[in-house]
Amino acid sequence: MSKVIAIANQKGGVGKTTSAVNLGAGLAAQGKKVLLLDTDPQGSLSICMGYTEPDKLEVTIVDVIEKLVNEEDIPEGYAILKHSENIDLLPSNIGLSAAEVSLVNVMSRELVLKDYVDQIKEQYDFVIIDCMPSLGIMTVNALACADTVLIPVQSAFLPVKGLQALIKTIYTVKRRLNSKLEIEGILLTMVDSRTNYAKDIVAEVNEVYGKSLPVFPIEIPLSIRAAETSAISKSIFEYDHKGKVAAAYAALTDVVIRNS
Ligand code: ATP
Ligand code: MG
Repeated sequence: MSKVIAIANQKGGVGKTTSAVNLGAGLAAQGKKVLLLDTDPQGSLSICMGYTEPDKLEVTIVDVIEKLVNEEDIPEGYAILKHSENIDLLPSNIGLSAAEVSLVNVMSRELVLKDYVDQIKEQYDFVIIDCMPSLGIMTVNALACADTVLIPVQSAFLPVKGLQALIKTIYTVKRRLNSKLEIEGILLTMVDSRTNYAKDIVAEVNEVYGKSLPVFPIEIPLSIRAAETSAISKSIFEYDHKGKVAAAYAALTDVVIRNS
């Protein structure tokens, strides 16, 4: 049985892509077959996976969407790239902006990605979708085909406030499009445990959301080593495997496997 996890938060820069890469790598290191889907026109996930100029890629999620909209068959392995840590990647690039706009006129536009994910998911143990920082059609598409949503939250005041809009969207998608959708958990990221401020934020998230939603018992520490991985096409496990961020993502991986 495969599990589809969307990593979403409309707030930018909260650690969605970093979490997609490192959860994906953690799962692959445990022998799981993993596909990462980049659904962000920024292509940050594709860049992190080593495709440093995504706009030069010839085949991406944009072509997959075009085929889906035109009801064409998608050949096996179409557009999928391989990463050395045993992870498959469906890359994205700036073309996805235009593709997202053109979906407005497509029938069942919220379910286009689901068409694709339903076709390929049995080949994988985990499909992880890195969402863009918006609650637009692509994010709704990701939520419509996911089993669960993982919500990274940067341990800072404003990102915590923005959670209500995301949670409302998740419940609307659950009611209208995908009744099985659940919340995998809220993941606090970039936690600077040396400061009282970070401790207050962690306590606030647990207090405000912890009763009604799962909050992971793991916090991702703030670390320059984590930030550096974005540019070197390696996960934190390859780059700094003894560090605290690797330990945190390994613990997150264990929880996700236990939940599946
Ligand atoms: P966007 O909304 O633009 O897609 P995002 O939510 O995907 O952003 P990331 O790209 O994962 O966020 O992270 C934002 C920035 O923070 C990046 O420069 C990344 O390298 C850095 N970063 C991520 N995790 C950590 C961490 N634990 N410690 C320090 N820096 C981090
Ligand atoms: Mg991102």
